[in-house]
Amino acid sequence: MTRCMTRCLIGLLILLPLLTGSAHAGGGESRHSIVRCDPAQTASLKTKANHLTERLTLLRTEMPRYTLAFVRDRYVLPMGRKWVEDSEANRNYERYLRSMSRVISAMEKDAQNGLAIECTSAITDQRCREGETLAYVLFILNVPIKKLYICSGFFSQSEERQLSSLMHELSHLSASTQDLGLSWMEGARSNINPAPTDAYHIEQFATGDIGQELRRQIWFWNWPKPPKRPSP
Ligand SMILES: [Zn+2]
Repeated sequence: MTRCMTRCLIGLLILLPLLTGSAHAGGGESRHSIVRCDPAQTASLKTKANHLTERLTLLRTEMPRYTLAFVRDRYVLPMGRKWVEDSEANRNYERYLRSMSRVISAMEKDAQNGLAIECTSAITDQRCREGETLAYVLFILNVPIKKLYICSGFFSQSEERQLSSLMHELSHLSASTQDLGLSWMEGARSNINPAPTDAYHIEQFATGDIGQELRRQIWFWNWPKPPKRPSP
């Protein structure tokens, strides 16, 4: 199975041939192993992998700030949203924080240890699906192989999108996230519990403004506005 970053399709299953394990050769000046990419692609991926590592460290150190009490005092009460002590919503948020902390730490650790990245051709690699898939991670029996495959279409994205794609794939590789495509945001029926398992959420959380992403994707849905009372 591949878990991937696609332009328009999410979660497509592709049968894969039996694979041998991935080589992970570190060494040299970079801790990352980047193979089968041209020199410009190699330089670009190296810079992005280092940037991604720094970003994950920043996230890990910033995240503890966004406690339940912080959200209550800075968002829920000032915005007139529904707050109930010891509610399920509050417990879900605390569980969300713990899960996100595990995911981000696992991604940071893998990035610090060095990423194995391989460029592959959208023409010859069927998993690139003729350019629809930009990058992917292979899973065998639900265990990710520790290698990021980069399809040639990856490089046609903006620099910012390339970084998002790498975050997305790294979340598959480090935390076995899935391609839920933010489907857990369903208006009044939204449930934040699957968010830490969704590569699309991790990608946006990890590359955007942390406060804004929490507000937009988590707080907004977890603490809805109380229903309006009819005026007398
Ligand atoms: Zn994916």
